[in-house]
Amino acid sequence: MTFPSWLSQLCRGLSRPIRRTTQPIWGSLYRSLVQSSQRRNPEFSSFAVRTNTCGELRSSHLGQEVTLCGWIQYRRQNTFLVLRDFHGLVQVVIPQDESAASVRKILCEAPVESVVQVSGTVISRPAGQENPKMPTGEIEIKVKTAELLNACKKLPFEIKDFMKKTEALRLQYRYLDLRSFQMQYNLRLRSQMVMKMREYLCNLHGFVDIETPTLFKRTPGGAKEFLVPSREPGKFYSLPQSPQQFKQLLMVGGLDRYFQVARCYRDEGSRPDRQPEFTQIDIEMSFVDQTGIQSLIEGLLQYSWPNDKDPVVVPFPTVTFTEALATYGTDKPDTRFGMKIIDISDVFRNTEIGFLQDALSKPHGTVKAICIPEGAKYLKRKDIESIRKFAADHFNQCCLLGKLRLECADLLETRGMVLRDPTLFSFLWVVDFPLFLPKEENPRELESAHHPFTAPHPSDIHLLYTEPKKARSQHYDLVLNGNEIGGGSIRIHNAELQRYILATLLKEDVKMLSHLLQALDYGAPPHGGIALGLDRLICLVTGSPSIRDVIAFPKSFRGHDLMSNAPDSIPSEELKPYHIRVSWPTDSKAERAH
Ligand code: ASP
Repeated sequence: MTFPSWLSQLCRGLSRPIRRTTQPIWGSLYRSLVQSSQRRNPEFSSFAVRTNTCGELRSSHLGQEVTLCGWIQYRRQNTFLVLRDFHGLVQVVIPQDESAASVRKILCEAPVESVVQVSGTVISRPAGQENPKMPTGEIEIKVKTAELLNACKKLPFEIKDFMKKTEALRLQYRYLDLRSFQMQYNLRLRSQMVMKMREYLCNLHGFVDIETPTLFKRTPGGAKEFLVPSREPGKFYSLPQSPQQFKQLLMVGGLDRYFQVARCYRDEGSRPDRQPEFTQIDIEMSFVDQTGIQSLIEGLLQYSWPNDKDPVVVPFPTVTFTEALATYGTDKPDTRFGMKIIDISDVFRNTEIGFLQDALSKPHGTVKAICIPEGAKYLKRKDIESIRKFAADHFNQCCLLGKLRLECADLLETRGMVLRDPTLFSFLWVVDFPLFLPKEENPRELESAHHPFTAPHPSDIHLLYTEPKKARSQHYDLVLNGNEIGGGSIRIHNAELQRYILATLLKEDVKMLSHLLQALDYGAPPHGGIALGLDRLICLVTGSPSIRDVIAFPKSFRGHDLMSNAPDSIPSEELKPYHIRVSWPTDSKAERAH
């Protein structure tokens, strides 16, 4: 698909009225909410000086007087000028007669990417000069007046080439990068999907959109939080890694169906395809079980899925955590292709091959294999060598076969096999996670596999008091094409159990969570929820190479804003009210002295 054509397809999607679903109708409040959201085609030119968008004009507009505003895409021999806005491109004829000299001067002299306003008549292109590749290719604009709204300096790069430039440069000139068709498409599709999610949750299912604070306090466990100094000596806010505690407190408060497009913050350093600030579709509801949350999310994705993609098929398949590890070697399997891991220990039970014998003699020792379809045909000797090296480099990591499976898929695809259909969206629920995992830094201690508010599996509660490591949880993850795009759980709503897990099993300081523990004691309803990672979801839906391509102003890999140069230093005078002083590392002191 060429860009203008998919962009206009998206715009058609935007103007399509909301599809009615077969949801039961819950009274007149619900009805009036739904009716108020039944919008007609969006008015893209309302309240503006333009009468139309550049991309919308067709033969049906012939003879109309129009006013357009847009950026100069290019000019051909001082005769034609192609004007662009988010909707597409249109050809403007530069008048050649003497009486229009001033208009011609403006249109011929304005540099490319200047923003102009033109008024004129929609005329048909002379026979033979139509451009079937351009949605507006049958018409052009005969200009009467033109105004240069603002000139564009010499560009660091051509807009159409921006995607090809280094990411650092794109982030430095993000406002120019945003003019590209790709960024326009990604951000508009994101807005459209979020809008449909709001409709589904609020209008069809009675959820309430509630904002929660971003200045909060430190919480135990989980990811590292960003700190914000306060004017009280030695006291800091912290930015929440998610609205988890607030959404649970909302349930105690009787707001029994909450959702928020929530900004979350995690100070996890540089990790590819993570952002220090990111967005979740955050959901919590009372009186629900795991299958209820799963059906809600399936319906949400089905409803908000873009019209230009194959519809989402529900229900999504489910695997347990144990099955996922055994079959795919990961808890986020890419199920677009097979190549499952097979246990072939029995075949080698009586083997005389030394290293296999050795492996099988160990407790829980197994021999496992992956069958690579048509591997002999596709893989070259050096591929086999690289597989062998990969296996040696990752030896003794329990996720080795999972990584090897993906590595082999990459190899097969570089050799021309189509293994992972790029148009396929393969959703999968992973359930029955363990409640706890051994702590990385001290494997004898436990940490929550999800977070400390996750309820144990009902049949494993007794294990909490005997063998907590073996207890399963009511935690579920949603995986799309091998990426975790959501996770949630049924929560503990009993204060005593929550206190036992925090204090006795996780050895956390319960004082930090006394507000939550107290709240559970005041008739907290059973509840559960989930959060979808919006950036990653949109990244997969748009097929973008990075989540930064679906965020208007993302941070760089190192967490910097390359456009404005944040984070930035603060004069020590301005730090005084916060009672903090920078202790400079020795090497940076030397650097500063230069
Ligand atoms: N707050 C959790 C997270 O950010 C999601 C949830 O349990 O609802 O991962």
